[in-house]
Amino acid sequence: MNISCKAVPCPIARPWARLLAVASILFLGWATVLPSISQADETRKGKPAGKALHPTKVVYDPPASVQSRDVRDALKSDGILESMASDLDKTLRLPKALTLRMGECGEPNAYYHTETRTIFICYNLLTGIEQDLAGVDLRGDALQTAAWHAFVFSLIHEVGHALIDVLDVPVAGREEDVADQLSTYALLEEESVGVEAALNGASWFGARSHGVGQAGAFWDSHALDIQRYYNIVCWVYGSNPEALAHIPESYSLPLDRAVNCPHEYRQLKRYWDRTLAPFLIAPK
Ligand SMILES: [Zn+2]
Repeated sequence: MNISCKAVPCPIARPWARLLAVASILFLGWATVLPSISQADETRKGKPAGKALHPTKVVYDPPASVQSRDVRDALKSDGILESMASDLDKTLRLPKALTLRMGECGEPNAYYHTETRTIFICYNLLTGIEQDLAGVDLRGDALQTAAWHAFVFSLIHEVGHALIDVLDVPVAGREEDVADQLSTYALLEEESVGVEAALNGASWFGARSHGVGQAGAFWDSHALDIQRYYNIVCWVYGSNPEALAHIPESYSLPLDRAVNCPHEYRQLKRYWDRTLAPFLIAPK
């Protein structure tokens, strides 16, 4: 994978630039669709809207390889993490500071660390996603776009864990599913490519489900990758069953599940709308 933008034209610049727009409006989307009921929040009194009390930080660890350095440089150039941090601060009144940190890991992964309130993104995550998706015969621009979409899906999933923690959100079921719900919901708020982005996130889990060992992780805190695939496809379809009527057949979603997807989507949307409403900063 050529992730360096030294080559002109940069082969990855176009899809990245397009998706940057997604990240930029994800959280602003909530601000425009939800009423702010935050006036009673004591921490906000006397503070102008948009000034974060606990600004989200962005940190890049020193890369340990040429590949990691190229990823860091490309992501820094695109400003995806900085945009997400800025949008979080402009949209949500976070009671504690979060950190978005990129660094080295032993495996392509991302996770939320509760003690330090840090979303940690491995330098090799994007490459790993692309390798997974290449296994289902995606190539060229389609592969790069799908990998970027799935990468953004993963970032928002981790933001979901972070919000559950710092906003002290009650979660009675599997937190991993709730984080997937937030990521799907947030992406679908973006009208132009949100459906495509969420479905590419699903396709990544579909691709992973063919990997070694994936089928046996019944003990894991995550649903099986193939279940995460069907969950996301179901929620996307359920978000607009009339306009997206082709999805069950195109994504092999059985009718037995599809009939309940509009209800599932309404449930998750109501959950996140109500959860975030007290923390929204009123749009100017
Ligand atoms: Zn997770």
